[in-house]
Amino acid sequence: MSKKLSLSFVAIFSVLIILLAQVFTVAPPIPNVVNPMVTVKLQSISRNGSIPLEISGRWQLIDSSNDEVLIERDNFRGDLRCDITGPKFGPYAANRDHVYLRCQGDKSLRLNYFSYPGELIIEVERNKLDQCHILNLYLRLELEDYVLGVICGELPSQTPGISAALQSQAIAARTYAIFKIQQGKTLRGDSRDQVYKGSDHNTQQAIDAVHATAGLVLSENDVVLPSYFHRNCGGGTANAFEAEFSKRPLAALAGSPDSQCADIYQRWQRTVPVSRLDKLSAEFKIGDTLLALNTVNKDQFQRRLNMRLQGEKGHHDLTGEFVRARLGLPSMIWHELIINRDGSITVTGSGYGHGIGFCQDGAMRKAKRGLDYATILQHYYPGANVEVLTAELFNP
Ligand SMILES: [Zn+2]
Repeated sequence: MSKKLSLSFVAIFSVLIILLAQVFTVAPPIPNVVNPMVTVKLQSISRNGSIPLEISGRWQLIDSSNDEVLIERDNFRGDLRCDITGPKFGPYAANRDHVYLRCQGDKSLRLNYFSYPGELIIEVERNKLDQCHILNLYLRLELEDYVLGVICGELPSQTPGISAALQSQAIAARTYAIFKIQQGKTLRGDSRDQVYKGSDHNTQQAIDAVHATAGLVLSENDVVLPSYFHRNCGGGTANAFEAEFSKRPLAALAGSPDSQCADIYQRWQRTVPVSRLDKLSAEFKIGDTLLALNTVNKDQFQRRLNMRLQGEKGHHDLTGEFVRARLGLPSMIWHELIINRDGSITVTGSGYGHGIGFCQDGAMRKAKRGLDYATILQHYYPGANVEVLTAELFNP
């Protein structure tokens, strides 16, 4: 075979390969990522109570039931008040039970001295006399704007070198919001769900972290993961099923050691007054005096999973997390418990928060050591998938 012929053969063969590749290779589908609107409860105002409200530029007050524009004006500065008739601000009143305020721009709405993007929903709660007695305030905004506010509310986003922690927190926060929405629950703007304080504290590092992870969420077996997170695990994260945070075992929330959080110099010590202990006994009707507070079971990190209250009239078992909330303790990892002469107890422990899932302190340390967000997430949610939030995943 001549050199010319062999070259022609190579050329024809190459064209064939390219044609075959075009026939048999399926182009990767463009992910149909969604950015749904989310609603966050900001706070409530009781009768005659008020909070500062400031609006820059054009605004409209709209009836949620039929989208009727009730009032349209420019600028406002004053108070939003819970009046007997309904919401009132300055000379403006809305005698409707469900309205929303639409403003222009991300910084045009200020409530309680915080700037918010999105729309402010005002919902009236009526008493038996059909009078307005509570105003519930919610914010409706895009998921990605919400995630940005959460990571700035949850982490010190101005700290240099924690991009990977902010990225992993963005994915965890986005996932948690979707999980709550799928449960039909309302997101609260504080640590009971996720801290959200508007857009005043957004940093460039946080904006970049949200953009870099836009639409990404965690899943296990094609279901959005309940991606709990907390401030400091105290040496190891908890098993969500054992801690009764999940009704079924989840591989991604089985708990794992986090040695850097076990530092003995980071321990805390708190004293719980006897009145608080006795109140717990009375609450469960086992007598007015709490005689003992015993551990039923604990995990390998000394985290109390279940506790037994012993009163004069019997005993009652509670989850560790319930006891933590009632006694006002930072965590349930206890190293020492001393009963004082006056009946109060002094506890020495580690960690802050419930200890399930993502550990914020640990993630920041890992980010500073150069780990990327995927590695950090694999540590705290082992085996979980990171995937884009599609309409199918959002509405299964
Ligand atoms: Zn940790």
